[in-house]
This record gives sequence, C-alpha cells and structure tokens, in this order.
Amino acid sequence: MKDHEQLPVTAIKSARGVWLEDFDGNRYIDAISSWWVNLFGHCNPRINDALKQQLDTLEHVMLAGFTHETVIELSERLIALTPDRLQRCFYADNGSSAVEVALKMSFHYWHNLGLHNKKRFISLSNSYHGETLGALSMGNVKLYNDTYGPLMLDTITVKSPDCYYREAGESCHDYSVRIFSEMENALQQHADECCAVIVEPLIQCAGGMRMYDPIYLSMLREACDRYDVHLIADEVAVGFGRTGSLFACEQGSISPDFLCIGKGLTGGYLPLSATLTSEKIYSTFYDDYTNLTGFMHSHSYTGNALGCRAALATLDIFESDNVIENNKIKSAYMRQAVTELEDHPHIAEIRQHGMVLAMEMVKDRTTREAYDWKQRHGLEVYKHGLKNNVLLRPIGDVVYFVPPYIINNDEIDLMARIAIEGINIATAD
Ligand code: PMP
Repeated sequence: MKDHEQLPVTAIKSARGVWLEDFDGNRYIDAISSWWVNLFGHCNPRINDALKQQLDTLEHVMLAGFTHETVIELSERLIALTPDRLQRCFYADNGSSAVEVALKMSFHYWHNLGLHNKKRFISLSNSYHGETLGALSMGNVKLYNDTYGPLMLDTITVKSPDCYYREAGESCHDYSVRIFSEMENALQQHADECCAVIVEPLIQCAGGMRMYDPIYLSMLREACDRYDVHLIADEVAVGFGRTGSLFACEQGSISPDFLCIGKGLTGGYLPLSATLTSEKIYSTFYDDYTNLTGFMHSHSYTGNALGCRAALATLDIFESDNVIENNKIKSAYMRQAVTELEDHPHIAEIRQHGMVLAMEMVKDRTTREAYDWKQRHGLEVYKHGLKNNVLLRPIGDVVYFVPPYIINNDEIDLMARIAIEGINIATAD
C-alpha cells in the first residue's frame, strides 16, 4: 500500500473488450485479463445479455434441498466437456475454496473407507493453490507462505518439473521425465499416509509462469493409480483454454480424480468455482444420514444462478466461435511479436503454452543469475505499461501476457511493443 504514495491507485470507470478506461480518460489494454479471469473481453454483449435475462428470472437460491435450471445445465455441460472420469460437480465461489473442497473430499474419501492414516498431501515446489490456509499449505512460494509457516499443514514438497532448470540442450520433455523420479520416490515413501498429489497442470502461474511438459501429467496419473493416491488438478488459472486446449489435462491425456476450476469459468464476470470429481468418489459419501459419511461442506453462494448463467454464456462462446482453434493463430502471433527479445542480454527465456507467454528478466543471460529482488525490475515494467496504455503486472522479474482471447493483432503489437520498451528500460545498465 505504501507504494501508492508514489504510484496512485488507478480507478477504472468503465471497460469494453480488452480496454479499461480510468476517470481521466486514459485507456489500458488488460494484458493480464484482470488476474487471468477475463476470457472474451469486458462488458461482452453476449454475456451481458445472458446475465440480464437471468437477473429477471432468478438471481440466487440456496443449493441445499433446492436446485435450479441454470446450475443443472451448467453441471451437465461441464461434465460433458471435462475429462471422462469427472461426473460430479461441487460449487464454491473462488479458486481457493475449490481447492479446499478437493483436499477435504480426498481426505474424507479415504476416511470413509477406513484408511485413517491417509492425511497428508504432496505438492510441487514453487506451486500456488490459493490463499485460504489449506490451499496456502499446498503452495510454497516463499513470498506468500513464509509468514504463515506455523499455521501450515504438514505437506510433502516434491521438486517441480519446472523446465527453466533443464540442462543446456535438454528438452522440456526429457527434463520433465527425469525430474519425475523425485515424485516416484515420494509416492513410494509416503503413499500410505497420502490422500492426494495436487498440481497446477503445465504452468505454475503465480510461481512466475514456470512451465513443464505434458508427459509429467501422464506419468503422474499412472503413478497415482499405481500407489492408490488421488490426483488433484488445479486448473483454476490454466483452465478454459489458456494453455491451448480447453483443459491442460487434455495435453497429458489424463483424467484427474478432482478438477478445480474458477477464474475463467464465468468469463471473468462473477466469483464462481467448481470441484469436479468421479462417480467412484461421490459414491463413498452417498449413504444413510445416520452413517455420517456425507460431505458436510457448504458455501452460502454455492451454485449462484447469475454466476452459472455467465458460465453458460461463456461456454456458448467457446462452442460457437471456434475459440481453441483461433487461439492457435493468436498465440503464434503473440510469440512472433516478441522475437526481438530472443537475444536480449537480460532475458533468460521466452516461454509459452498457448495463450500464456512469459519473458524472464535476469541480471545475466548466460549464467541466468537473477536480479536482487529488492531492485524490483518488474515494477519498472509495470510503470512503463501504465504510462503507455498497457496493464502489465509482472510477477517479480517475469513479464507475461495472459490476454483476453478477443485481443486483435494491433492490440498484440501494442502490448508487445510496450513490454519490450519496458524491459529495455528496466534492464538498462
Ligand atoms: N489455484 C491457482 C492455480 C491459482 O492461480 C489461484 C489464483 N491465482 C487460485 C487457486 C486461487 O483462486 P482465487 O484467487 O479465486 O481464490
């Protein structure tokens, strides 16, 4: 907050498409989709119309003993669109809660089977799964976790397949395969006491848009089955097309036991999240009340009708506009727009999965020595963006694009040019 003594908060008056407009008439391209939530632009006419209709029909009703048409339709469509194993939906209202639901359900499944020793979770180094205490315990980005150390669950951390650390000449695929041995060892050692492994499929977003190869997901699925441990795929950030497929899990040809989705679920309009799971897991909870096997977890706004309607309108756009195919052209254009950074002395790597592109600034490209974090080079890029009509919000020294899918080539050109200028300014010796 103290930063804002020098850098006033930007108050946004209105927004349309990729553009945000402040009260002084300045416009900004929302290059990060307002924290990765927006998919088809702000004030999208199709989502707006759907919401207006829903508003005049039903705004909300509790989802206990009662249900409504919109949530039923959404559940059926999500089940049809997500990997095979997923046949049941549980709703919450943010990504962190979706993760909490998956953790509690996984633990509770084993508990219902009488396996009371299973109470720990495995997660990857440099991962992020949300802010609530359970979800935070699964993450291990120091900046977010360290202070709360005494409150954290006892999670087992396994080295991430983050391909930034591959050897020179080693492919991401080969590195991801090589690093998998660490997961294999952890599972071998801890399977008896473990409920689940939780991962962010393909991109560790809050960890600096670090990426890995889909082969890791395939290997993880096979190993989780072999060791009788659940696999939780946290696609809160990467779901809904960000990595180039509707869900990142598709690239590893896997079905997780739990899939957490949020953010883009409503096209970036309203807080809604869901945890999908299998019929097999659902059925261990399904019993007479007096046996007390039920999942006693509720949120006031679970299955909110407006959120569900925004989600349906979002899925309609995916269906009618051939979004995933068109994004292939857009993501190639985005990559080409930053080609000149390839040999930049302070860019260690340009990496991309679909519509997520990241450029990592370092002190020395050849040794990959990082900058001292206190120098805040990313902040310089942010400031340059604000002065030049682009909202870029680097994570540390990682400048990235996660734009709404309706961005056009001219807007990509502007976004890329301002990012390159910002990087040049921030890394000038
Ligand atoms: N999981 C992942 C992978 C995320 O990136 C985030 C948010 N950035 C969350 C969970 C938490 O979602 P929310 O902020 O909606 O609680």
